[in-house]
Amino acid sequence: MGSKNRAIIVILSLITFVIQGKGQTGAGQETIEMLFPGGKTKALILSFDDGMVADRRLVRLMNEYGLTGTFHLNSNKLGTKDYLAKEEVKNLYKGHEVSGHTANHPNLTDLSKIDVIYEVVEDRTELEQLTAYPVRGMSYPFGNTNDFVIEAITGLGIEYARTVGDTYNFSMPTDFLRWQPTIHLFGKTNYIPNDTANDRRESGQFYQLTNDFLKANSLALFYVWGHSWEYEGAGNKWAEVEKFFKMVSKNPDIFYTTQIGLVDYSNAFKNLKFSVDKSMVTNLSSINVFIKMKGKAFNVEAGRTKRIL
Ligand SMILES: [Zn+2]
Repeated sequence: MGSKNRAIIVILSLITFVIQGKGQTGAGQETIEMLFPGGKTKALILSFDDGMVADRRLVRLMNEYGLTGTFHLNSNKLGTKDYLAKEEVKNLYKGHEVSGHTANHPNLTDLSKIDVIYEVVEDRTELEQLTAYPVRGMSYPFGNTNDFVIEAITGLGIEYARTVGDTYNFSMPTDFLRWQPTIHLFGKTNYIPNDTANDRRESGQFYQLTNDFLKANSLALFYVWGHSWEYEGAGNKWAEVEKFFKMVSKNPDIFYTTQIGLVDYSNAFKNLKFSVDKSMVTNLSSINVFIKMKGKAFNVEAGRTKRIL
């Protein structure tokens, strides 16, 4: 073996020694995990589209059970038949989030870029007048989107947009502009008319997921979406809605949040500034952020620097 090779081996051994040494003594290998506010591990989002008059009953029921919702509205439909009046938007949704769903509910993937931009900006402008706060998210009409639509809405102040591609799991979205919910409320029950076997299967799966969420012990986001108008008409669907609300309400382990609330919290976590050895962290946001490291939970208060090791 030449002296050159020996030198390389010595250097490699040194590097290995340093890397291993770090792992044993420092926090290098400890991953920092996000917890929800209050150190909770469960979050629930309830989100409903279209802003039709049945939202009145839905919101009343949610308020009764202390639940928070995100409501996606089509501003140009408000005031027309079966839709809410513009004047009631602000009061009805107090304590909930009003979000966009485009002005006229077109299929965005069929439109030219200028029309996609119009639909989103027009909706935002009108809803902001009605609610008196910036409207920063939306859901896609019919759940349809693609790269073209996402490019068109980039830069329009939309920080999240929901599809209808249910995941049937509790993971956090990896891309807020392609946000897939967990499941439609009651699954695809009633999607196929007069198919009771399918209805039983779908609602069984929905309640199974609800129970799995309530029992989950790692970070879990349960995102349920739907439309209030689905619960009108024949059958006892409102009672079913109430049964579900009862199951998930007033649970101290759950962070009840709007969609934008979760986006803001997740961004605050991602913007935490850690020292290289992870012993110190600065939270520049206005939100208290809860994290877990080495099995311990920490509250990193808004605007503070904290020593965590
Ligand atoms: Zn819709």
